[in-house]
Amino acid sequence: MKIISGIEVSDKIKSDIALEVEAIKLRGGKVPHLAAVLVGNDGASQTYVNAKVKACEKVGFGSTLVELPATISETDLLNEIEKLNNNKEIDGFIVQLPLPKHINEQKVTEAISPLKDVDGFHPVSLGKMVLNLPSFLPATPYGIVEMLRHYNISTEGKHCVVIGRSNIVGSPMSILMARNTYPGNCTVTLTHSKTQNLAEITKQADILIVAIGKPEFLTANMVKEGATVIDVGIHRIEDATKKSGFRLIGDVKFDEVAPKCAFISPVPGGVGPMTIASLLKNTLLAVRRDA
Ligand code: NAP
Repeated sequence: MKIISGIEVSDKIKSDIALEVEAIKLRGGKVPHLAAVLVGNDGASQTYVNAKVKACEKVGFGSTLVELPATISETDLLNEIEKLNNNKEIDGFIVQLPLPKHINEQKVTEAISPLKDVDGFHPVSLGKMVLNLPSFLPATPYGIVEMLRHYNISTEGKHCVVIGRSNIVGSPMSILMARNTYPGNCTVTLTHSKTQNLAEITKQADILIVAIGKPEFLTANMVKEGATVIDVGIHRIEDATKKSGFRLIGDVKFDEVAPKCAFISPVPGGVGPMTIASLLKNTLLAVRRDA
């Protein structure tokens, strides 16, 4: 069994990006600048956004954090987005989800200029992805694809089972794994809450991508010997032994599943860091597009 280290892969991506930023600076080019919009003060969202801003600083990008109150109206938030769309200094920006219930997330996603949509959630970005045209890929699926590539994991002709069909993880993941390229060329089964006999399906998977959002859902009896398992889930559970008072676990019961796997990504240290690295890659791409 080999651990797929998102830390190792993302560090390599980030150091490549840092070198590129140095080269941009030397030739007097536009230094990439990412903005992150945070609405309200949800603890997990704050942690994710801070990690993204910190990652920008580390590779030499400019970064701006736009903090807005949870009580902001939808109209005012859309106005803030329009300002970012028109701000020439900002190459790409994200609006951290989830948003407060009174705000329509789809409307917000669609208000972001496709040229600055570095999260890859805009219908234009997703449509281009489906057509295999150059586009901003959604950060988490993009990160997973890059992990498979880094570890040279064979995908052609394999059966890939994805658990979960969200717009940001499961559905785009299933499309990327079916594309006629590497990593891809899999036969893909996309499963969801209405799927019957899930374990029968997951046991057939050569590559199993778990994005169900239920702590330690995937158990050893659902996995075939020699499978590759990618755990997308992130859950905070209380842990008095930690300084923070919590620890992170995934959607996979790691201790019992790992011994059966050829490759497995852990939580933490798997998909999470890759999502941030993909966001940085997309921001670099956004600058090149403007050039
Ligand atoms: P989501 O929007 O809640 O989607 C969950 C999916 O799981 C849905 O499609 C749902 O089906 C499906 N599902 C629920 N119960 C099921 C069951 N019993 N059998 C099969 N499928 C079932 O979640 P998400 O946004 O994709 O996120 C999934 C997890 O990944 C969460 O823990 C999230 O925190 C984490 N995440 C991590 C990163 C990262 O950077 N590491 C990024 C994004 C998300 P229906 O469609 O039928 O409801």
